[in-house]
Amino acid sequence: MNYEKLTHREPVLLAHLPTPLYRLDRLSEVLGGPEIWIKRDDATGVGMGGNKVRKLQYLLAEAREQSATALLTAGPLQSNHCRQTAAVAAAAGLDCILVIEDRVRDADALYRTNGNLLLDRLFGARFVVLDGGANLEAALEQQARKVREQGGVPYVIPVGASSALGALGYVDCAAEIAGQTDFTFDHWIHATGSGGTQAGLVAGAEWHHLNVQILGINILDVPAAQVAHRIRTIADEVLLNAGHVSTEKHDVTVLDGYVGEAFGKPTEGMIEAVSLLGRTEGLVLDPVHTGKAMAGLIDQVRKGRFASGERLLFIHTGGLPSTFAYAPLWSLEAVTTNF
Ligand SMILES: *Cc1c(COP(=O)(O)O)cnc(C)c1O
Repeated sequence: MNYEKLTHREPVLLAHLPTPLYRLDRLSEVLGGPEIWIKRDDATGVGMGGNKVRKLQYLLAEAREQSATALLTAGPLQSNHCRQTAAVAAAAGLDCILVIEDRVRDADALYRTNGNLLLDRLFGARFVVLDGGANLEAALEQQARKVREQGGVPYVIPVGASSALGALGYVDCAAEIAGQTDFTFDHWIHATGSGGTQAGLVAGAEWHHLNVQILGINILDVPAAQVAHRIRTIADEVLLNAGHVSTEKHDVTVLDGYVGEAFGKPTEGMIEAVSLLGRTEGLVLDPVHTGKAMAGLIDQVRKGRFASGERLLFIHTGGLPSTFAYAPLWSLEAVTTNF
């Protein structure tokens, strides 16, 4: 695709692409509804993979153009985005500074040491940890100033890498999916948060004239309407800047009902979904994003949203490391009790 009006840059190619796409026979059989397929964007490679790598390839191109010496970004303690940024920075020979928001209440010691946080440290990132609700933007600006004072050049990446530039990674993914089968899926389903993934997919589907329904499962404790608004804004910016003037208002569907008590808090549906995918397919989903998204998919299949001849594609956006921060949910004791 010609992205020239948005960026004359080529993405810095770090991800292992194309990611695999295949049918989940056992899960489809167990659920007994439509045919379910998976797109393995958890397997993008860098730093244990996930959806941020595709977006970061474009942001890194801009960072290099500005001769940046450090990548700065923000997220919660178990942020997949922070971990992938730290890995990309390491692979590109840049410093990485993470502004971490301590926002999940009652987090245990495992949550504070394992999973993404362990990997952030292995990738050599430096940290600033703030209380939940702190002003992350201001903290990022302050850290950027510090880098400048020390003679470096900071490049600040928005939360989730969800800018129009970052979303190009998912415009690419839409084209990649279209090229992997000789049919078009009826639905793409995935976890949606800061919105760049869905915005890229929506823009990509429109650009390539793919007649697919895209369903985002909201994993934030922000109303779906607000998430959808942000997605539409980013998608508009992508399409407009790429010179593709759309006459239609693109359809952005975000479903509420699966986040549970709060972002990052386990739900029964998530535990069922993660356990089911493990048992039927040998696949790992995470408790925060893909587990809740799969819980939404399962529930929507049970409620009859999809016709039995339809084909659904679940886009696995990653997050595996955070599963290790939630180990007690699948402790021997918990598993034996549920047996
Ligand atoms: C960040 C993330 C998402 C959400 O993607 P957005 O582009 O922020 O909407 C989904 N799943 C996982 C595993 C993530 O890390």
